Amino acid sequence: LLQVRALHKSFGAHDVLKGVDLTVRPGEVSFVIGPSGGGKSTLIRCINFLETPSAGEIMFDGRHLCREEGNVFHVAPERELRAARSEMPMVFQHFNLFSHRTVIENVIEGPVMVKRRRRDEAIADAERLLAEVGLADKADRYPDELSGGQKQRVAIARALAMQPKLILFDEPTSALDPELVAGILDTIRALAERGMTLVVVSHEMGFARRLADVVHFIADGAIVESGPPQRIFDAPENPRLAAFIRSIL
Ligand code: ATP
Ligand code: MG
Repeated sequence: LLQVRALHKSFGAHDVLKGVDLTVRPGEVSFVIGPSGGGKSTLIRCINFLETPSAGEIMFDGRHLCREEGNVFHVAPERELRAARSEMPMVFQHFNLFSHRTVIENVIEGPVMVKRRRRDEAIADAERLLAEVGLADKADRYPDELSGGQKQRVAIARALAMQPKLILFDEPTSALDPELVAGILDTIRALAERGMTLVVVSHEMGFARRLADVVHFIADGAIVESGPPQRIFDAPENPRLAAFIRSIL
């Protein structure tokens, strides 16, 4: 579904991604772990073009979002990037909801504005999705009236409303009070069990171990080791990964 090859991203003279290769198959749950500043957020922001990569190739659902030809770096037209972004929405650490809009208005914004869905249909879908994430009774509330965990479930419903092919999560639980984390992890697990393709940046190692099909360890702008969770957590080969695992356990 998603193929990333030799992806580079620099901010000025600072090389943040130094040639990342990553493949995500349909239905797969991939976790991205690694030390702070290693490039995890930059990688998933580049995948859906919230940041423009500096070089390399991203292919999503059979289409190139960017590629190298000869020595020239090509980026797909904005219209195609926007379509791809709507098919792989991102859920952020800090929810990124529109604070002056109600919950249901947040959920229908993308379908109505980007996908040109009819408003009444989008509302019917949004009500169903809010019920699925346990927020049927919050449709007409404003984000400020919700807990962090409820806000994050609105953000997940908003992502699902785009009928995505893949959902990107960037530390979806790290801004939450500890007692709210489990509920969000359960919501994400339910998506995985339904066969949704997920790429999750997370520091929840127990969760990664239980849910991941593949874990990628990224440090210093490169994927240093990838593999099934048992191997990554119990028998890491790379010394940096081994040190990282020791430091978090
Ligand atoms: P964390 O676990 O703390 O979220 P991360 O692995 O997600 O870390 P990134 O946010 O991808 O790390 O940052 C990687 C590096 O890129 C950092 O050194 C950061 O300072 C730099 N960086 C990220 N975004 C920008 C930006 N917009 N401009 C300049 N430098 C940036
Ligand atoms: Mg980050």
